[in-house]
Amino acid sequence: MTEIWFTERQEEHSGLTVRVRDVLFSGKSKYQEIQILDTYSLGKVLVLDNTYQTTERDEAYYHEALAHIPLFTHPNPRHVLVVGGGDGGTVREVLKHKSVESVDLVEIDEVVVRECKKHMPTLSKGFSDERVSVIFEDGAKYVKETNKKYDVVIVDSPDPVGPAVVLFEKEFYENIKGILNDGGLMVEQTESPLFSKDFVINIRKTFSEVFPIVRQYLTVVYTYPGATWSFTMGSLKHDPLKVDEEELNKRFKGMETKIYYPGIHKAFFALPRYIKEEG
Ligand code: SAM
Repeated sequence: MTEIWFTERQEEHSGLTVRVRDVLFSGKSKYQEIQILDTYSLGKVLVLDNTYQTTERDEAYYHEALAHIPLFTHPNPRHVLVVGGGDGGTVREVLKHKSVESVDLVEIDEVVVRECKKHMPTLSKGFSDERVSVIFEDGAKYVKETNKKYDVVIVDSPDPVGPAVVLFEKEFYENIKGILNDGGLMVEQTESPLFSKDFVINIRKTFSEVFPIVRQYLTVVYTYPGATWSFTMGSLKHDPLKVDEEELNKRFKGMETKIYYPGIHKAFFALPRYIKEEG
């Protein structure tokens, strides 16, 4: 039997390869090439334009960091916007917060949501929750035009190429600031500190031109280039380093997670010297 292997070329001379058991979906939407692979070592994997987006094996490290750090930093998140995130992993984590009354997901590509609903139910199961509305639109256009206000905005974007470039521009952050309620905050995935050090530092500078409080934090994602992954938070009032752990423990009680617990909330913000604030 012919073996199928998939490689994401992550740098000019290196990449990450997995053996594929089955190709569950392969097609091209208006925006990108989409594949959902069943793999021997990583479970089901979503690939866009030949780039790993999420895998069943390591997705918790990414989605829990992306969702729980901002939601536990905000004292009472009720209305949440997720931009991108069509696999549903971030929405699934947001819904674990009892205070959350509504989650709007603005995803540009209908095909990603349709196929993840079909093939990756462990991630996409939250889409059937009555608190969730899915809007198919460009996230940059949405935040510019909407009249709705949010407590927390989470940007779960791919790399800054193609339709996602606009999700890393100052104007986008300014428009997000404009749709935040008092004390609101936003967070965005901001690439690999190892492979894209200058990008990580520059995005912190851009956030600082828009938000009074800016913090960066890290997680570990085996399938992303460099394995260490960064997030940048912009906040109007609440500082993730000043959360009250006892308060978090009360809110966390009964929540099922793999990675996050209140005792490591602040530890996520420990940065290596080459990207840390003063460096
Ligand atoms: N966890 C992933 C990562 O870091 O690589 C991101 C996964 S999620 C599937 C990213 C989604 O953002 C994709 O489904 C893509 O279609 C969507 N997207 C790209 N550009 C967008 C835009 N301008 N507005 C809304 N969604 C966008």
